[in-house]
Amino acid sequence: MPDVLQHDVVIVGGGGAGLRAAIAAVEADPTLDVAIVSKVYPMRSHTVSAEGGAAGVIKAGDSLEEHIRDTISGSDWLADQDAVELFVREAPQELLRLEHWGCPWSREPDGTVAVRPFGGMGIERTWFAADKTGFHMLHTLFQTSLQHERVRRYDEWFATRLLLDDGRAVGVSAIELRSGQVRAVVGKAVILATGGFGRIFPFTTNAAIKTGDGLGLAFRAGVPLKDMEFVQYHPTGLPGTGILITEAARGEGGILVNRHGDRYLRHYNLGEPLDIRDPVHPRLRTMELGPRDRLSQAFMKEQDQGNVFDGPYGTYVHLDIRHLGERRVDQKIPFVRELATNYAGIDPVREPIPVRPVVHYMMGGIDTNLEAETALPGLYAAGECACVSINGANRLGSNSLPELLVFGARAGTGAARWAREHAPAPRAAVETQAADEQARIARDLINRRDGDERIATLRTEMQHAMEAGCGIYRTEATLQAAAAKVAELRERARRVQLDDHSLSFNTELTAALELDIMIEIAESVVHSALHRTESRGSHQRVDFPQRDDGRFLKHSLAYRTEGAPRVEYRDVAITRWPPAERVYGRAH
Ligand SMILES: Cc1cc2nc3c(=O)[nH]c(=O)nc-3n(C[C@H](O)[C@H](O)[C@H](O)COP(=O)(O)OP(=O)(O)OC[C@H]3O[C@@H](n4cnc5c(N)ncnc54)[C@H](O)[C@@H]3O)c2cc1C
Repeated sequence: MPDVLQHDVVIVGGGGAGLRAAIAAVEADPTLDVAIVSKVYPMRSHTVSAEGGAAGVIKAGDSLEEHIRDTISGSDWLADQDAVELFVREAPQELLRLEHWGCPWSREPDGTVAVRPFGGMGIERTWFAADKTGFHMLHTLFQTSLQHERVRRYDEWFATRLLLDDGRAVGVSAIELRSGQVRAVVGKAVILATGGFGRIFPFTTNAAIKTGDGLGLAFRAGVPLKDMEFVQYHPTGLPGTGILITEAARGEGGILVNRHGDRYLRHYNLGEPLDIRDPVHPRLRTMELGPRDRLSQAFMKEQDQGNVFDGPYGTYVHLDIRHLGERRVDQKIPFVRELATNYAGIDPVREPIPVRPVVHYMMGGIDTNLEAETALPGLYAAGECACVSINGANRLGSNSLPELLVFGARAGTGAARWAREHAPAPRAAVETQAADEQARIARDLINRRDGDERIATLRTEMQHAMEAGCGIYRTEATLQAAAAKVAELRERARRVQLDDHSLSFNTELTAALELDIMIEIAESVVHSALHRTESRGSHQRVDFPQRDDGRFLKHSLAYRTEGAPRVEYRDVAITRWPPAERVYGRAH
């Protein structure tokens, strides 16, 4: 029988959301014993790669009301307004708390916290630590978690299944990657903080580990996935690698030009051009600082008109930051220079950077309420894997780092309370499920000899089906084709053959487990997109170009079935901000 490791709260994920949840749980009750299970060492979580910053109202002249309005209009009115209000109110407190824990926020000359402009935000409100914000935030959270002896880490353990007892979540089965052994990590409450799933697409800024595992765990336990059709393309990725050139490059004054040297965004209802000699201009939310969905869509239109460059890694436009000058680039966005030099072979102080839209962030995720609770008792979710929702149909850049703090903390506190009030599950119940999981992995993957499908083939086919069928623009026909392909892949994935039959650090095994989950999640994305016959935010249906509030001012909820997922709807929480047109480029 697999070992059973008993704790009070089990957190899956050692990124920003998971670490914040762990600290909140032990602070809520120092007698609790908290486990963090993470498939990589916490500092390798994707949060580390966030560059641009974290939004929170702090500057004179800004207001909570403005941040709320920007977020709601950015979401194309699909965000729950009670969630946005709560988020905006708590974000500055969380960012200050991080400051007290040692996060080195960049400063103004007078010593106050510096903020920068960001896409879709009407005023400068994005806190940053140069352009390595995620690294510094994650480091701060990690070192703070180390102060708490009752946080026990299981680094390089891969969670494969939720353990249930009497209709509630009571832990996970996980593979200790070093030994290959399956163990039951058990608690009275479970928090999923496993990050996003950009890897279901071929061209993404997301780390290879972002395969949506937590969504798969929840989905398979009957929890619905919310708003899965909303996939964010960031307008400025490096062709070839998909490495992100942060929005901070435009926040600092960078401009986008097509192959005719035209600042093409001026043709897309995004306001008047800023004066490029005056990069820090008060008129924000215009042109290059419009929201990401609109900018990525504008690229596609330019491409259709033949206005983009064509290179060895596909089409692209230019992001020009030369006018900022070497000093400002080195001081404010040094990482942009480093990345462009190393991965595009150009020095952006002297030449424009080639960029194209790239899959970046998933607005959808595990359905939770404001307390980060899911429909399954004892199960919480926070961070990019969750959908509260504050992002609706389009997330504003720099809202997700504070989101994982605000809702990570709430998940931790809630799970601590739940753990105090509930008894542990009987050992036999979890032991049997973990044993079943161990047997399944051995039989279907490690010891199988008669499989005829390869992981890489299936993964590549899935990624290309998603891009072709479910990209920036979608139609019934492209989505139907993607749905058929993904269903076929789900069947074929049952016959996957591994070459590596060993136990220790079997990366082929983890790739197979990730693929299985990605296919299932991709299916929920495609079917949610098929059912939403309107265009809203990042979900653009060529065959239904208008937003349809009458029918679709609603969250989609995808439920797992034996066949294609079942899609249901729930009303969006509208409190004080009635739906309106999204207007950019002028004062609102
Ligand atoms: C390049 C890049 C730049 C970004 N820049 C910004 C920015 O400037 N501002 C902003 O607001 N947002 C930004 N974002 C988005 C933001 O960084 C992420 O949404 C956020 O960091 C996600 O944090 P998380 O804690 O939810 O997940 P992650 O940091 O991705 O952590 C996930 C954790 O889950 C664990 N895990 C996953 N599956 C398993 C499993 N099966 N078993 C065990 N453990 C598992 C992993 O080991 C990891 O520890 C950026 C994203 C990218 C990709």
